[in-house]
Amino acid sequence: MSHPLFDISGRTALVTGSSRGIGLALARGLLEAGCTVVLNGRDPGRLARAAEELGGAVHTAAFDVTDGASVAAGIAEAEERVGPLDILVNNAGMQLRAPLLEFAEPDWHRILDTNLTSAFLVGREAARGMVARGRGKIVNVCSLQSEVVRPGIGPYAATKGALKMLTKGMCADWGPAGVQVNGLGPGYIETELTRPLVEDETFSSWVRGRTPAGRWGRTEDLVGALLFLASPASDFVGGQILYVDGGMTSVL
Ligand code: NDP
Repeated sequence: MSHPLFDISGRTALVTGSSRGIGLALARGLLEAGCTVVLNGRDPGRLARAAEELGGAVHTAAFDVTDGASVAAGIAEAEERVGPLDILVNNAGMQLRAPLLEFAEPDWHRILDTNLTSAFLVGREAARGMVARGRGKIVNVCSLQSEVVRPGIGPYAATKGALKMLTKGMCADWGPAGVQVNGLGPGYIETELTRPLVEDETFSSWVRGRTPAGRWGRTEDLVGALLFLASPASDFVGGQILYVDGGMTSVL
């Protein structure tokens, strides 16, 4: 029997960017824990396929997390249709790899909008209801790169470092109203976003050698930490980033 502190059955959760990869795995974890889940992404077809794959208490809400008006309309519509959100996972994100001297200005704005502004926009809309109801859980998907960086991913690391501080800022503003905001920091996880790295054997063996756990992470590796941060077990945890990285951030 599981401990009641981890019981989140009956809660309603929105996971942004959940048509594939980490978001889809996190949505599956919440569903298996008894939540009603709302999947999000920009492509309605891909979302419908993901919902079918999961089955059960799954809904979809297609909107672009970088567009304030679409976010406001999308959250309002989802809450009307599915119910008030108890849990929000700000997961949608992207990667653009290029040396800083060659990094184009439009790309800088795109990655900032997708990885950082999105969490502000979606977080703010979801928190309106959570603050009014006096409870809620928000989990921002940060990264190993909230702490450390490698050549060619400076802009990505800048967005994830800023997301760590936005997590703390949300905790400061919404914690008093009973909303806990924390971050989940994945290490190197095999998904579409990291496919070029996985396929590069030199890089891939560097990851395995550099990670105390000796392997790449799987999307399912992140579910336990999410369930903790989404459940009453973390009611007195605020503004923390929980790194799930096989130990990588701890060792040189
Ligand atoms: P994927 O590229 O596999 O999936 C990204 C998801 O986000 C897709 O469902 C995509 O759907 C959606 N998405 C992208 N842009 C938008 C948008 N503007 N509006 C709505 N949805 C959007 O990424 P991962 O699963 O690998 O990564 C998920 C999160 O985890 C990201 O924040 C990433 O930075 C973070 N992370 C990943 C790591 C890894 O090793 N993979 C490590 C550390 C952090 P669609 O294109 O249809 O909109």
